[in-house]
Amino acid sequence: MVLAAAAIVAVPTVALAGDSHPDKTQAAKQAIKGGKARNVILLIGDGMGDSEITIARNYQVGAAGRLAMDTLPLTGAYTTYAVQKASPNLPEYVTDSAASGTGWATGHKTYNGAISVTPDEKPKPTILELAKAAGFRTGDVTTAELQDATPAVLGSHVINRDCKGPDAMATCAVNDKVNGGAGSIAEQLVQTRPDVLLGGGKQYFDQTVKAGKYKGLTVAQQAQVNGFQIVTDAAGLAAAKPNQPILGAFAKNNMDLEWTGPTPTRTGTAPSTCATNAARTATQPHLVDMASKAIDVLDKQTKNSRKGFFLQIEGASIDKQDHAANPCGQIGETVGFDTAIKKVLQYQKSHPDTLVVVTADHGHTSQIVETATLGYTATLTTHDGANMTISYATSEITGSQQHTGTEVRIAAGGPQAANVLGVTNQTDLFFTMKRALGVN
Ligand SMILES: [Zn+2]
Repeated sequence: MVLAAAAIVAVPTVALAGDSHPDKTQAAKQAIKGGKARNVILLIGDGMGDSEITIARNYQVGAAGRLAMDTLPLTGAYTTYAVQKASPNLPEYVTDSAASGTGWATGHKTYNGAISVTPDEKPKPTILELAKAAGFRTGDVTTAELQDATPAVLGSHVINRDCKGPDAMATCAVNDKVNGGAGSIAEQLVQTRPDVLLGGGKQYFDQTVKAGKYKGLTVAQQAQVNGFQIVTDAAGLAAAKPNQPILGAFAKNNMDLEWTGPTPTRTGTAPSTCATNAARTATQPHLVDMASKAIDVLDKQTKNSRKGFFLQIEGASIDKQDHAANPCGQIGETVGFDTAIKKVLQYQKSHPDTLVVVTADHGHTSQIVETATLGYTATLTTHDGANMTISYATSEITGSQQHTGTEVRIAAGGPQAANVLGVTNQTDLFFTMKRALGVN
């Protein structure tokens, strides 16, 4: 304890810009609005625990700076645990994205790997499906494969997250079309038919449907038969018509990373900075481009309707680059995600009947540490001009770091946002969004 106290004292304190400390009571009261929301926009930073937020903030805007996500008026924390499949009354303290996503998508805790099914493998309706059935327009946007867990939980129900396409059903016999199931994640997403589906995972849409009405067609062709326009690059996305569902598949797998930088080592690195990823495919849209198009299209589609839209936007590769122990990869994705949040908050300004929620599905491995600390470390020179050392220490090898079981931040603004205050559970978010949209 003495050591910890000494370490805290040794950290220089930085004054907030302007150094003004107004009483925020009135602002907080004004931010609390009940009632219905016309639109709900849910932004998920995958693996974006407090540590990942702080690392990105320090690097990009400095320790006393604030990211767009830091400006939401109401903030709480939520617990993310999953449950054990064989004993669902027992928690699984470290969740994966499938179980955590199922939590806010359906309101049910489940086992790691489950996509919107309960521990006894029963499908449960999702917030996107309920919104759609009630007459709202819907969208699902990610930088990962669209069949990855976080986008998948909104519009599909399979017993194992790996069942992404018709050729990948080995662990989901019960869901396989050839056995009379609803099909792979790719097939089910197309069948659920959100108005906007944007991300990676083109390879699974190119697989061939094996049974049923669409047998012999690829999943992409099945989508086209059902009215989707298909786009595969930024120019196609920009030109996509607003009056027709859009399936944008911009990469074979996950979309390319925004930034690159040093690889951590056991003995650390010399201080350095991050660089734009020169290997990034230039024709891929950025997350903010996809978010902007989704909002634009959904807003146009609901102009003359009493009901608005539900949209989820995921910054997926914060998690993936945390797994890969890639600090600049992780920070670049967090900054890219924050740019999309900024765009959403601009929309909310002119559409205050929009509930905006920014949260994560679980914490992750990266920590800000003193130099010469255990784990794989790299040192980056931040916006402050100071050196920040980041450690990855949940695995003996780089490239397979692990999630953590911590609670994560949830921040919100707009109707029903007060329901994120205090300490809640990720399953509570389902009910908050349901109440905001007034759907059952
Ligand atoms: Zn992960």
